Amino acid sequence: MPDFDYQLVVIGSGPGGYVAAIRAAQLGLKVAIVEKDATLGGTCLNVGCIPSKALLASTEHLHFARERFAAHGIIAKEISVDLGAMMKRKLEVVGKLTGGVGYLMKKHKIEVVKGFGKLADAHTVDVSAEGAAPRQLKTQNILIATGSVPIELPFLKFDRKRVINSDQGIALAEVPKSMLVIGAGAIGLELGSVWRRLGAEVTVVEFLPRIAAVGFDAETSKILQRNLEKLGMKFELNTKIESAQVSEKGVELKGSNAAGPVSFKADIVLVAVGRKPFTTGLELEKAGVKLTDRGRVAVNEHSQTSVPNIWAIGDVTDGPMLAHKAHEEAVAVAENMAGKPGHVNYQIIPGVIYTAPEAASVGLTEEEAKEKKLNVSVGKFSFTANGRAIAADTTDGFVKIIADAKTDKVLGAHIVASNASELIAETVLLMEFSGSSEDLARTIHAHPTMSEAVKEAALAVDGRMLSA
Ligand SMILES: Cc1cc2nc3c(=O)[nH]c(=O)nc-3n(C[C@H](O)[C@H](O)[C@H](O)COP(=O)(O)OP(=O)(O)OC[C@H]3O[C@@H](n4cnc5c(N)ncnc54)[C@H](O)[C@@H]3O)c2cc1C
Repeated sequence: MPDFDYQLVVIGSGPGGYVAAIRAAQLGLKVAIVEKDATLGGTCLNVGCIPSKALLASTEHLHFARERFAAHGIIAKEISVDLGAMMKRKLEVVGKLTGGVGYLMKKHKIEVVKGFGKLADAHTVDVSAEGAAPRQLKTQNILIATGSVPIELPFLKFDRKRVINSDQGIALAEVPKSMLVIGAGAIGLELGSVWRRLGAEVTVVEFLPRIAAVGFDAETSKILQRNLEKLGMKFELNTKIESAQVSEKGVELKGSNAAGPVSFKADIVLVAVGRKPFTTGLELEKAGVKLTDRGRVAVNEHSQTSVPNIWAIGDVTDGPMLAHKAHEEAVAVAENMAGKPGHVNYQIIPGVIYTAPEAASVGLTEEEAKEKKLNVSVGKFSFTANGRAIAADTTDGFVKIIADAKTDKVLGAHIVASNASELIAETVLLMEFSGSSEDLARTIHAHPTMSEAVKEAALAVDGRMLSA
């Protein structure tokens, strides 16, 4: 390839882009990565997964200190919040991780090119950055990993003060008196619970009949809602917001539900109705890269676009907009480029909502199993009967295992627990190996652990729980 400067130029340094760059470099490819933002790491590290989890952790500590310390015999009379310090810590966490990506780029000899990348043709990426000379990168392969941006409602434009998206929702300088969240998915519930714990009156408005409706079991939605209501969050389900008036004083919203017209007032509205792929300015048409009818970059099962040497992964392509989905595709696409058999198992991608308790899900829900007319056996176990949960004061939640009634193969797992995001991993692994509930039930789990509830739920598939 005499005319190419690189074997791979990656556009975008999120969990898709930076991981693909590393894996490609490990496989011996000469790689450059183009990033328009000041720091590496994309949405996830800068304004997504990581800062939201930092704030969730801080505010969970606050809530536990206020609500549960006394029961543990801890006397802390004056608990107050220094929001500035909380935000500073969040930024330090972000800085550590984005800096870590920079270190990894150096370690793997990946050239970082700062600036906005666009396609000039199928082998050329033009990069422009303020104050720097434009560059033209000639490359054998191009990987589009440009991620996504928040969706705006047509009648409720982001002014980033009164009408905000998650980028501002993780960085408010003061606690609003009231916050209305539109959308009861992961981002709305997580950030809603952060600001509720900090003292805001939070109302979540959702068009669908239940919260966490996409990818989560109906029972999960129910338990999660009950716990978030205990926290003081209010929910307006089956409700559509249709118009809004924004003023210096706040936002007035009008809409409707089955009973008729409804209206709300709030200091701040957080719009969390989803994200859309970001392809603006990439000039994909210059290289002949096609989009799907939903505006995502169209790819085949190898993450290859309509142009064979141009690939795309992560939020900009079809599938759940999750960091670990982008991450897995990144490894597979680099391996495919290097002539190895990279593969992603799209059937087994866990999803998590990091509220307190957390909700985690993998595979089929009970409702989906019914819709597909599958004959399944369901085992359930509540954390109220789990020794470790009782000792740790974290008894909210349950584990549900869904197995094929005939073969016993596990088809889905649903967990609500303080650490559901961690507990789900063993069921994901089990499902990767096409394991059965019997495999899980016969696996020794350390005692006392919350993971014993997973084993008990597996035993319950066959009606033989030992602890309840
Ligand atoms: C508040 C919030 C919380 C979240 N929490 C979680 C979570 O807990 N778990 C989870 O799995 N997912 C979570 N997500 C989703 C997760 O952040 C995304 O799925 C993930 O970041 C997608 O990775 P990506 O590499 O596809 O794109 P991104 O991370 O969006 O990265 C794309 C990068 O490309 C750059 N870029 C775009 N266009 C260009 C261009 N033309 N030239 C140069 N650079 C460009 C962007 O600046 C960006 O840095 C969360 C998202 C948000 C908003």
